[in-house]
Amino acid sequence: MIEKIKLEDLKKENILAFGEIYQGKLHPSSLEILTPLKEIAEKLDKSLILVCLADSLESIHDLESLKKSLADEVWFIFHSKLRDFKDDLYARVFIEIIKSTNPYGVFFPATLIGVSIAPRIAGVLNLGLCAHVNALEIENNQIIMARPTYGENIIAKLTSKTIPVMATISIGAFSPKTSEKTPVFKEVIFPENFSWESALKVRSFRSSKKKPSRLSTAKVVVAGGRGLKNKENFQKLFELAEILKAEVGATRPVCYEGWVEEERMIGVSGVTVKPKVYIGFGISGALQHTAGMENSEFIIAINTDKEAPLVKMAHLSLIGDAKKILDLLLKKLKR
Ligand SMILES: Cc1cc2nc3c(=O)[nH]c(=O)nc-3n(C[C@H](O)[C@H](O)[C@H](O)COP(=O)(O)OP(=O)(O)OC[C@H]3O[C@@H](n4cnc5c(N)ncnc54)[C@H](O)[C@@H]3O)c2cc1C
Repeated sequence: MIEKIKLEDLKKENILAFGEIYQGKLHPSSLEILTPLKEIAEKLDKSLILVCLADSLESIHDLESLKKSLADEVWFIFHSKLRDFKDDLYARVFIEIIKSTNPYGVFFPATLIGVSIAPRIAGVLNLGLCAHVNALEIENNQIIMARPTYGENIIAKLTSKTIPVMATISIGAFSPKTSEKTPVFKEVIFPENFSWESALKVRSFRSSKKKPSRLSTAKVVVAGGRGLKNKENFQKLFELAEILKAEVGATRPVCYEGWVEEERMIGVSGVTVKPKVYIGFGISGALQHTAGMENSEFIIAINTDKEAPLVKMAHLSLIGDAKKILDLLLKKLKR
């Protein structure tokens, strides 16, 4: 049962989190960001609200995950015009909520949709926005946001000069948690004069044939770097991944070379992974990469250079040619 409530009657001064629903599916990172935000909200004595935009309740497939989420309340905004993602309309809906409920913080997962609307909202409301945060804490009753900076070589701790505090949070930086207490579901009724029009028109929707990557939640990750030498060798990682039920990850240079799509990039500019086993083939272990995999439980490095930082950091290292070792491994596993 969902309570209907007018926008102007909603609770004020909360911590808001964007619950991204796309084609009826809740993006897992919307639940991940609730983990640090719950702690923050409790310390600041604020309510944690997940804000979801969709065309109708029936169109949402993941209500069970929402029921187990850490949010105190889930606010739904339903309208037929919200069926397809439109940056301008989504941003305006959020701006209306912010203006009306005067939140203390507004946070977005750093998904394509999150990083598209957060700066639009911050720009219109003249607010600061901290991008790609990977740690949050409270000091002197203030939210401190940590993110890599200066060529991603150091971690900067930032506070916001404007309220609400706004940030996008890196995908995979936190693990989602569940709560025994079901959040209160509310359907927010917008004022009649609110315009649901958008400058964008979605003509058609075509699903990608590609299987979506589950890198941030994978139990085993096989990753490749420049030491694999070429795209053809890199592609063999997919064969290994299939056998090990793993996901394929990569370093930034090989994504930029076009050996694999950028969504598989691990590190400060990509995804954070925390698998039980991470195997790095021909990866040097630059800080920008290791920041995204250092919490893996067991790290295996394959490299010709025994001085490579990833080799030094690994629990097990194989010193040798990455392609040769990969071929041998595949041969053995296939047998
Ligand atoms: C602002 C900024 C953001 C960045 N963000 C990211 C990020 O998110 N993720 C990321 O990965 N990088 C990122 N980088 C790039 C990062 O600094 C490194 O350049 C990159 O991680 C190195 O990739 P690599 O290990 O594939 O290549 P290299 O550093 O060139 O290392 C290749 C390794 O392969 C080994 N090797 C060579 N031949 C063989 C062989 N035959 N067999 C086995 N091993 C071999 C070498 O000894 C070496 O250790 C960023 C850089 C900047 C400046």
